[in-house]
Amino acid sequence: MEEKKRDFHMFKRFVVKVGTSSINHSNGKPNLFQMENLVRQIAGLYNQGREVILVTSGAVGTGAGKLGLSGRPKTIPEKQAAAAVGQGVLMHIYEKFFAEYGVTVGQVLLTREDFSDRRRFLNARNALHAMLQFGVIPVINENDTVAVEEIKLGDNDNLSALVAGLVDAEMLFLLSDVDGLFTADPRKDPAACLIRDVQEITPEIENLAGEAGSMGTGGMATKLQAARMAMHSGVVTVIARSGGKDVLREIIDGEPHGTVFWPLANKLENKKQWIAYSSTVQGKIFVDKGAALALTRQGKSLLPSGVTDVDGVFELGNTVSIIGPDGHELAKGLVSYSSGEIKKIKGAQTRDIARLLGHKDYDEIVHRNNLVLNL
Ligand code: GLU
Repeated sequence: MEEKKRDFHMFKRFVVKVGTSSINHSNGKPNLFQMENLVRQIAGLYNQGREVILVTSGAVGTGAGKLGLSGRPKTIPEKQAAAAVGQGVLMHIYEKFFAEYGVTVGQVLLTREDFSDRRRFLNARNALHAMLQFGVIPVINENDTVAVEEIKLGDNDNLSALVAGLVDAEMLFLLSDVDGLFTADPRKDPAACLIRDVQEITPEIENLAGEAGSMGTGGMATKLQAARMAMHSGVVTVIARSGGKDVLREIIDGEPHGTVFWPLANKLENKKQWIAYSSTVQGKIFVDKGAALALTRQGKSLLPSGVTDVDGVFELGNTVSIIGPDGHELAKGLVSYSSGEIKKIKGAQTRDIARLLGHKDYDEIVHRNNLVLNL
């Protein structure tokens, strides 16, 4: 693959995500050396006039350690309780270390709903921007104590990519206990090589993640999901090992650590990023072959004439999944009509909408500006 020049000096806004393995010893106690090292590096970037947002894991692990549990808690309430204890411990340590470098931090705990509800999404964005303006480093984690399954993101890799999109960051660091993405499992295969640059996440690359995940480094699959999201959001992503003394600065200076995922040339505009990655799908619209081609090949809007069926109950402005005649999702989009209205106008011509509904606010069921083809 073609080598791209690594020079990230001009970047101003960074999201740094650090995994549990870098925050906790295996007994759940905080790894103070690593945490201090990370804080020192982030404070260094901050002192250069850069903005940094830290996404940190380790609440559940630290809480479990504090509660004297052996291993990770098993039930959801136990995890929630451990997170409540551990999050406080983590913040205490971060605050102490950052204060030594004269940096103020603020805790932000998010759930999926803070991204999927457009108003909450914009509120979260305003809050984070205000913190950055005050010169505060936001320290973010998932709100594990209240996030039950339906509203949970589940992993901080995806959370950090959503945050990078939310704040329009230029670069996302996914720091953990792996050096990056390899061509094979480096612990089993001495010929395995670090992949330095990824410009497209192909099925072959996804297969590598499967192997990496099974070697217990954990979470290469979620790192690739995060990298894919970031690539479509115009964010440079680097997967690298957290242990190095000055790894953040070295990567920014162009040293060859880790795997760099390069943003795509045609990044999605902010609203489309939100439709693709943050919003919650409320229903399905099934379309015929002609409509499928018009959407995917010609970049057209979805009109009532191409709709064959509707599934679910949704309102104007909700996100739906658009399903082609082969049963596969083609796109996601925001609807201009409710599910009840679409049932009445499906298959009809645009000129008949007013007669069938008694009103016509839009010609399209999903306007192309509100539509994102499957990525
Ligand atoms: N939010 C979880 C925690 O702080 C970590 C999730 C993850 O590591 O991806 O324990």
